[in-house]
Amino acid sequence: MFDLEIKKFLQKNNYPQLEIRAVFFDMDGVLYDSMPAHSAAWVLAMAQFGFRFTTNDCYMNEGRTGEDTINEQMKLQYGRQATPDEMSRIYKLKTKYFEDAGGAPQPMPFANELLQKIKRQKRRIALVTGSGQASLLSNLQADFPDIFSTHNTVTAFDVTRGKPDPEPYLLALSKAGVKQHQAMVVENAPLGVQAAKAAGLFTIAVNTGTLQDKVLADFGADIVLSSIEELYNKWDQIVTVK
Ligand code: MG
Repeated sequence: MFDLEIKKFLQKNNYPQLEIRAVFFDMDGVLYDSMPAHSAAWVLAMAQFGFRFTTNDCYMNEGRTGEDTINEQMKLQYGRQATPDEMSRIYKLKTKYFEDAGGAPQPMPFANELLQKIKRQKRRIALVTGSGQASLLSNLQADFPDIFSTHNTVTAFDVTRGKPDPEPYLLALSKAGVKQHQAMVVENAPLGVQAAKAAGLFTIAVNTGTLQDKVLADFGADIVLSSIEELYNKWDQIVTVK
């Protein structure tokens, strides 16, 4: 069913085959249904500091670290770099609104089932997120038992250049000890897809937010699906393509 997409990917990158030994997951909007709370917090915090920043802007910037998001808007709207103090104050307020919204975000339906299945298939798993939310990272063990540790997570703290730069995914490749044609990425955000593609990786977008599928395809997603549940149901078809 996905033969064509995989063949196109292999030809374009000049890889011999796709041999999925490792699967890299983005966190927000992929493993957790956390994007509605994040975007609401961003919109409120940015407005308080005099930025125009809509829900759509939030989805289009998703994947950047908090500091990068603030700095980009400062450049776009005020024509200068944000100072470290400004970045820290705005991000602190965003984090406060996110935490005030109450309750840890729920795991995405079928995320744990998918992770456990991949683990049973003896493929490696890594988390590759631009997030620096301590509250979310600490929930991983409770929500996805025995999947994630410091050895297979890449967060905002591990990289100097966040998504859309390929650095987070290149670091995941080296942590997993696999080559590009041996890994696959699951992302929900345009800039996350861009980062994964810049790292030379086969990328499945799950469109769990408010954007059109076309946006994710235009940013380079090899396959666009509607949910993690759909990915779970189609998983074996995807990984058995030769
Ligand atoms: Mg995401």
